[in-house]
Formats: sequence, structure tokens, C-alpha cells
Amino acid sequence: MMAQSFIAKNQDIVQLAYFAVIITLLWCSEVIFTNSIATEKFKHTRVNLLFILTALPVQLGMISLVLLVSAWVNQHHWGLINYLPFHKNPWVYYTSLFILMDLCEYIYHVIMHKFDFLWKFHLVHHSDLKVDVSTTVREHPGETFVRTSFQMLWVFLLGPVAMVLVLRQTVQTFSNIAAHTTLRLPNRINKIVGLVFITPNLHHVHHHYQLPYTDCNYGDVLSIWDRLFGTFAELEKEHTVFGVDTHLEPSKNSVFLNILKIPFQKLERK
Ligand SMILES: [Zn+2]
Ligand SMILES: [Zn+2]
Repeated sequence: MMAQSFIAKNQDIVQLAYFAVIITLLWCSEVIFTNSIATEKFKHTRVNLLFILTALPVQLGMISLVLLVSAWVNQHHWGLINYLPFHKNPWVYYTSLFILMDLCEYIYHVIMHKFDFLWKFHLVHHSDLKVDVSTTVREHPGETFVRTSFQMLWVFLLGPVAMVLVLRQTVQTFSNIAAHTTLRLPNRINKIVGLVFITPNLHHVHHHYQLPYTDCNYGDVLSIWDRLFGTFAELEKEHTVFGVDTHLEPSKNSVFLNILKIPFQKLERK
């Protein structure tokens, strides 16, 4: 009981520790299974890890606001979930909200690609030339702000309790980190898992440096939205080149302070 109440009260710390454990375990697995030289790999990782310093204060501050919105909507029985048949059944409630929130994340991701002002922030994530687990944290603090603001909107529209958000965050953390790992699934397994979930193989396509692939596989945890809305694509490992065609020079995409400036520069389109 004591352990349970500690976990409930310290969700921020628990989620951060869980995130750190998964990313470290997968990072070490990448070194072992791909025969990478750890010191070389660390040089690349170091730049991405710096984004934790800039994003974390924004993330923690904004999440408190998301939780406040969740408390308000539940107090006022607000949100689409209240109109769903059988929503009082916990299985229906949690599963439907998980799926609906995943659809919201899909919409958010499409929006980040389609509006130049937002794309300039999101392209920071795409500008990594060597995608691995550390790419997961490569997010401009401006995008962290936009992402969590949208999260407030989704919570306001759907009406989930805080436990749904905790459950989603737990699954999402694992899914997002796994999607960036260099350890791709064997093709046969990818065919099955990828029917429903975003796999590393599918997310790597999204990190290909050229359109139309960059505008495919927007899914967060589930791949069903890409299949449904015609944005699903597959690309073999040999043909996948990471990065964005407008930001291939190392001075633009490998120096932390230069990367932070990207959203405030004129956008080149190829
Ligand atoms: Zn993207
Ligand atoms: Zn990514």
C-alpha cells in the first residue's frame, strides 16, 4: 500500500525514472547488437540529451496544467467520453480514451508537418542524421510547449481522468523510444506487429530525408490511423536515409545552439 501511494503521489518522478531506465537499456542494447563504438555513439547522444535540459521544465510545468484541465472536465462531467455508450464500464472507458487520444496525437503530428511555422519547430526532431533511441528526446522546447498545449485541448475535448493520462504516458514512453531504436524488427514480425502498432521499421520511414516519406507514418502508438487515412508507407533499411533534405550540413544539425535557432530562421523548402 505504501509503495502504491508513493507511486500515485510521485507520478512525475516515476515516469522520468521509467523513461530513463528504458532509454538506457535500449541504448546499451544498440551498442551491443550493432557493434557500435560506445564513445562514438555517445558523441551523437550528448547533443540529443541536451534537449532534456531545455524541454523538461516546459514539460513539467505544462503537464501540471494538463492535469488541472483533466480535474476540471471531470468535475463538470465534460468531454466526448461522457456521450459514448457503456462508458461507465472501465474497459470501455480506458480503451476508448486510449484509442481516441492516439488519434489526437496522429492529428497533432500531421498539423506539425503541414504548417510552416510549426514545421520549423518539429524539423528539429527530424534533423537528426543518425536516428537512435536518443532521437526520442530531440525536441525543441518550443515544440514541447505546442505539444502539451494541444494535449490540454485533447483532454478538454475528450474528458479523461488523470489515470488515463498516466496509462497513456506509460505506453507512449515505451512505444516512442522503441520506434527510434536502430534495432529494427525482422520483416516477418514487422508485418504482423505493424498491422496495429508503430514499429521502429515504420517510424524510420518517417525519418527518411525526402518527401513523400517524411509525410508518412505519423502514428504515435498505433499505425491504424496511417492505414485508415492513406499516409502509410514502407521503405527498406537500405533505402532509408535519415535527416531532412534542407538541413543536411553538420553545422546546422549537430551543434546544439545552432539546432535551437532553426525555428527562427527562414525556411527553405526543397
Ligand atoms: Zn514528424
Ligand atoms: Zn521520430
